[in-house]
Amino acid sequence: MFNVVIFGAPGSGKGTQSQNLIDEYGLYHISTGEVLRDHIARNTELGKIAQSYISQGQLIPDDLMVDILEDLLDKNPKETAKGVIFDGFPRTVPQARALTEMLEKKGSKVHAVVGLEVNDDELVDRILKRGRETGRADDNLETVKKRLDVYHNQTLPLRDFYTSEGKYHAINGSGDVSKIFESIKERLDKVKQN
Ligand code: AMP
Repeated sequence: MFNVVIFGAPGSGKGTQSQNLIDEYGLYHISTGEVLRDHIARNTELGKIAQSYISQGQLIPDDLMVDILEDLLDKNPKETAKGVIFDGFPRTVPQARALTEMLEKKGSKVHAVVGLEVNDDELVDRILKRGRETGRADDNLETVKKRLDVYHNQTLPLRDFYTSEGKYHAINGSGDVSKIFESIKERLDKVKQN
């Protein structure tokens, strides 16, 4: 198994690079944002709860998020996937601790965390552009600043958390998408060899 967390602010390119990682390493994609948006589209009970947080640019509470993730991990088609790419999870230190425990129970671990680093001005431009192009409801000027605040206060501490475990790989997330992927691949190939 090869488990990778793709980490970064909203708009840092996690979704795009996840797709490249899936194609390259045959990983199973777990995107918590996509799962939540699907629940919202289907108007499920979870979707209603998620909508109330997402529309405010806030995170869904940890205990609910951990339950969702546990469920998603159990659906991982082990026979076909060579590992998991975690996209959008963990977003807080308690979520990271829960992930370690969940994987430990399965005799596994997080092998690498790819941190896509992009400055805030570029993130805002990218998110607003994505909002115009895809109609994604939370990609608007009102929530973008809140999401970035939440990222800095609640999610960024994970960089230290994973750095202290020797798992964090900082990647410059600005510029050409394929060049960014090359730097990710260079790092991950080394991790795989060890
Ligand atoms: P994303 O598509 O990853 O940017 O996620 C969109 C929104 O879903 C976030 O702004 C959060 O409100 C919510 N969300 C996604 N993943 C998580 C998570 N791991 N913990 C809490 N909230 C999350």
